[in-house]
Amino acid sequence: MKLDCKHVWEYISEYIDGSIDAQLREDIERHLEHCEICAAILDSTRNILILTADDRTFELPVGYSKRLHERLAKEIGPEPDV
Ligand SMILES: [Zn+2]
Repeated sequence: MKLDCKHVWEYISEYIDGSIDAQLREDIERHLEHCEICAAILDSTRNILILTADDRTFELPVGYSKRLHERLAKEIGPEPDV
């Protein structure tokens, strides 16, 4: 199975949590090896999870992905229109 970025984002909290299917974990790891966007998102998500580790309910803060995209755009150039 080939994952695209959206799939990785969908499963990323489970991936960090370790509650993910082993096969899916492998697919995500393979994707992360060649996708720096998802690797950056994984890092940011991990930081947020550490900050919110007391409270196991995991939700992205409002505006999170917008800010993240702006930061990524600065770091790696403008993202193509989806
Ligand atoms: Zn990706």
